[in-house]
Amino acid sequence: MSSSKIKKSVIINIKGDKMNDLEIIKGVGPKGIKLLNELNLYTIKDLISFYPFRYNYIKATSLESDSVVVNAKVMTIPIGYRLRNNLNRMTFTADINNNLVNVVIYNRIFLKSHLVLNKGITIIGKYDKFKNIITASDIKLYQIGNSIKIEPVYHTVKGIGSKVLNNYINEALNIYSDEVIDDIPNYLNEKYKFVNKLTAINEIHNPTDINLLNKVIKKLKYEELFNFMLKINYLKKQKRNTSGIKRNIDKAKIDTFISLLPFSLTSDQLTSVNDILNDLSSNNKMNRLLQGDVGSGKTIVAFIGIYANYLSGYQGALMVPTEVLAIQHYKNAKNLFKGLLNVELLIGSTPKKKKEEIIKKLANNEIDFIIGTHTLIEESIKFNNLGFIITDEQHRFGVNQRALLKNKGISSDILYLSATPIPRTYALTIYGDLDISNIKTRPKDRKDIKTYLRSSKELDSVTELMLKELELDHQIFVIAPLIEESENSNLIDINKLYERLNNAFGKKYKVDILNGKMKPKAKQEIMEQFKNNEIKILISTTVVEVGVDIPNATMMIIFDAHQFGLATLHQLRGRVGRSDLESYCILISNYEKERLNIMTKTNDGFVISEEDFKLRGHGDLFGLKQSGDMVFKLADIKTDYKMLMAAKEDSEEYLNNHSNNDSLIIKNVKQLESLD
Ligand code: ADP
Ligand code: MG
Repeated sequence: MSSSKIKKSVIINIKGDKMNDLEIIKGVGPKGIKLLNELNLYTIKDLISFYPFRYNYIKATSLESDSVVVNAKVMTIPIGYRLRNNLNRMTFTADINNNLVNVVIYNRIFLKSHLVLNKGITIIGKYDKFKNIITASDIKLYQIGNSIKIEPVYHTVKGIGSKVLNNYINEALNIYSDEVIDDIPNYLNEKYKFVNKLTAINEIHNPTDINLLNKVIKKLKYEELFNFMLKINYLKKQKRNTSGIKRNIDKAKIDTFISLLPFSLTSDQLTSVNDILNDLSSNNKMNRLLQGDVGSGKTIVAFIGIYANYLSGYQGALMVPTEVLAIQHYKNAKNLFKGLLNVELLIGSTPKKKKEEIIKKLANNEIDFIIGTHTLIEESIKFNNLGFIITDEQHRFGVNQRALLKNKGISSDILYLSATPIPRTYALTIYGDLDISNIKTRPKDRKDIKTYLRSSKELDSVTELMLKELELDHQIFVIAPLIEESENSNLIDINKLYERLNNAFGKKYKVDILNGKMKPKAKQEIMEQFKNNEIKILISTTVVEVGVDIPNATMMIIFDAHQFGLATLHQLRGRVGRSDLESYCILISNYEKERLNIMTKTNDGFVISEEDFKLRGHGDLFGLKQSGDMVFKLADIKTDYKMLMAAKEDSEEYLNNHSNNDSLIIKNVKQLESLD
């Protein structure tokens, strides 16, 4: 028995899951398993719920159009040639609606044995009327008739194509259809007229009809959201019953600490500090989200919490998503807590010896405050008496990871920091199990970024504004959207923009381009030159890392601004205004003036997201979908907002009417506690 097999049987035991053995599927051998694993598919269940990410809609055309999709019959035995090592060519004659047409196709010699005389096929390609030749891009070994054929397309890896995956999935469905469980209770299926789960799963993998497919996707989306909200609302309900550490807070010492800071706290910061101190001194476990724009001063608030926690006799930890951020926080903390707390840094690149030393010290309570990345929740890390955990930015500490800490016997207070401003209704839904503190005001000395909206006819005035900044030796960011569907046409846009700006300014001021497709090293070089004030105008797409800090950049110009959500525009704007210099943001667009004008009226991320929400019924929740637990296969908490709200209410009702012994609730709680 191979070691992978042993491991697998262990997993079966832990999960009590019968649908595990991928090998049972016809055609899947050890190599197939490896490839499926690359797609993160480990069980039959994974496979069945690996949904297509899009569909090809194939509809027959006549021979009149340039791009043709035609039913045909093979009339001559195909002849294949090898042209080069990896290029081959095949030709044959086909009967299309009683016309004989020559067909050429490249790199499909493997189809030759299937293309027997009189075989009915579908040819997809380009038709040259004069030469009477179709250059085919694909040949299907069936006729599509007159209906629309819907073909599922899956994410694949080299070695398994969509078709093969679909075969595996259907094989799995054949064997295991009994095990497909509908998580949606009957009364809700009836309420929404949802199709049953098995039909849904069959249809999503083997679509027969567009209307049915849409219905099916709706059902499966709802199922995801319902399960998600069931977890959130379960945690919310549990929270009332979980007790935390009740601490004595040394208010006098904390006040002294605050009074010694080089600035006075804003009123929102003070309120947030009080929220945290109240949590710490109460019986309840803290589970608090501290929201505030970038630069609003969340860190100091969190650190005051760490100090209070230390004074009450416990260790504290700060977990962040990247090493760079960890190092930055570590430097700040070291400085702030000099002579007060022992602060340490633990990240992936910490040398082994140092790491061992830190692990020892943590266990012996010789470290008061540890800052690091996910390394902090590794198996080997044991705390002496961890009382307070902060997690920073984007990556909401998944409920799974919380469970992991709990499994370590740690029941700490947790504070989440987030710079993603989201409307209150959203926050209350997706962070339903958390209390929320908001920092809305920004430190006093921070200037608002002056923001203007200009049409493409007013570019001359923009050029003037740019020149003014350049003459003050300030630098400028220029952003153009990257349109996913036609990346090539967009690259031309960026190049055009470069040409234009280089014509206008290039003689005196260096203009350069940064785009997401460049090699990391090339990117770094450009960034370095911009940082050193050698490049004066940097043109880029948004794919460029947001974390850059260039205090001397005082102007942000965004072309085709309507292409962006307001939250994204707000984040982009946040790249300037990082010093006491007056800073500007210029949005260029001829469209969606009402929406874009919101940006010119306020610098407050919360106001912007609320307005955006009101205007569009959903917001542009930057970076939200990817975070923590909120990874859905089909649903999107932005565009499926109405469904999310329904799932919220339905799951609340469900929890109220069912005991914790209910199988669906047990299933969801198990998922909360599972380690992966
Ligand atoms: P973020 O909310 O993005 O984490 P930071 O906590 O990093 O923001 O704060 C940004 C900067 O503002 C830091 O240099 C911090 O020292 C400073 N700062 C925080 N609070 C105040 C305040 N009340 N007055 C002046 N500066 C402040
Ligand atoms: Mg921060």
